[in-house]
Amino acid sequence: MITVEQALDKILAHVDVLETEERLILGCLGQVLAEDVYSTIDVPPLDNAAMDGYAVSSADTRGASRQSPRFLQVIDTVAAGSVSECQLKPGTAIRIMTGAPLPKGADSVVRFEDTDEPSPKGSSPQIGIFGEAETGLNIRRAGESIARGSIVLTKGVVIRPSEVGVLASLGRSTAMVIRRPVVAILATGDELVDINQPLPLGKIYDSNTYSLAALVMRYGGIPSILGIALDNEDSVVAGLRHGLDADMLLTIGGVSMGDYDVVKDVLAKQGEIAFWQVRMKPGKPLAFGTINGVTDAGIARNIPHLGLPGNPVSSMVTFELFVRPAILKMMGKKNLTKPAIEAVLEDSVVNSDGRRIFARAIVKKRNGRYFARLTGPQGSGILTSMTLANGLAVIPEDKEGVKAGDTVQVIMLDWSEE
Ligand code: AMP
Ligand code: MG
Repeated sequence: MITVEQALDKILAHVDVLETEERLILGCLGQVLAEDVYSTIDVPPLDNAAMDGYAVSSADTRGASRQSPRFLQVIDTVAAGSVSECQLKPGTAIRIMTGAPLPKGADSVVRFEDTDEPSPKGSSPQIGIFGEAETGLNIRRAGESIARGSIVLTKGVVIRPSEVGVLASLGRSTAMVIRRPVVAILATGDELVDINQPLPLGKIYDSNTYSLAALVMRYGGIPSILGIALDNEDSVVAGLRHGLDADMLLTIGGVSMGDYDVVKDVLAKQGEIAFWQVRMKPGKPLAFGTINGVTDAGIARNIPHLGLPGNPVSSMVTFELFVRPAILKMMGKKNLTKPAIEAVLEDSVVNSDGRRIFARAIVKKRNGRYFARLTGPQGSGILTSMTLANGLAVIPEDKEGVKAGDTVQVIMLDWSEE
């Protein structure tokens, strides 16, 4: 049996970073930027007011105080979005709103609070200034946030909402990013029924297609659902045919030791395939290889293929451990590991057969420390246990178990803060 790390290394060695594409900025969320972004404009474009108040010339405020205000004549009002056509002359002020460009002749803005701004506001033709204003007071300089010609975002960053906002502030509607992988998913099993059908006796709904498609989406890929193949070679071959233009192919089930596990036979004929027993629980049986595919342009190429175990929990756990890093690598991301924390385990777990156990756990923070409790029965068919869990507690393969009170690593599936 190989270790989780050995399996992951082999998988990652077979996946490459995908090509770049130009996309509308909102569509880029979570993708990796494939260009250095320079600004062609100053942000803000002009010197402007940082506060609501009066634009003045600082020279006009010399000696001003609350006891003896300097009175200036108000010659205009300027709001954000418009430019005052007036020029300040000695003894005058222009009422100005936050974000409005500084009028000619002004070098500072005095806040309303530091004037005798009357009520109703702006009703007086003159204004009393209560204090001396230094040059530059309450002014945001042109280019202070982003200077024209400067590099604003560098190639390789992941686009988050703040990067989307920065692109928009430059007037960019699109950006070059590494494209999202298309991940095709084929379920296998005579017992499976699609969710849109009634459920005959002896059958079960195909849930894995949907949990895995949701995981593909969560990590930035595009799922392509191929449907359900029966447990025979022809049906699996037919099912795979529609996935040969994908960037990665997932099959679910049919890789264990059962009589009807035909997936491995088919895949061995369709490409190069390795079957592994990975030293982990759940999820021991795992197939990995490449399948002969074609590009959109009809050119032959190899598609990485992962044959995940059919048990609903096993398929999700093996996805998190092996498919997620592969998707992230294809997207050009550098950090491929899910965040992990140290937590005090509140249950004991016996490890009888030397596999690494990924136990579904509920992690909570108390008094600044993390505590992890198991979700209950750990059967790999019990999918509802995944809905209770927010983490996977890792029980090392070289230990015969851990006791309540021991500290373990927990791979976080979700942060409650999210
Ligand atoms: P297999 O790996 O094909 O032997 O499947 C192991 C278990 O997982 C069996 O109980 C299957 O019925 C179940 N299973 C396989 N595929 C799915 C699926 N797509 N949705 C729900 N359960 C499945
Ligand atoms: Mg099966």
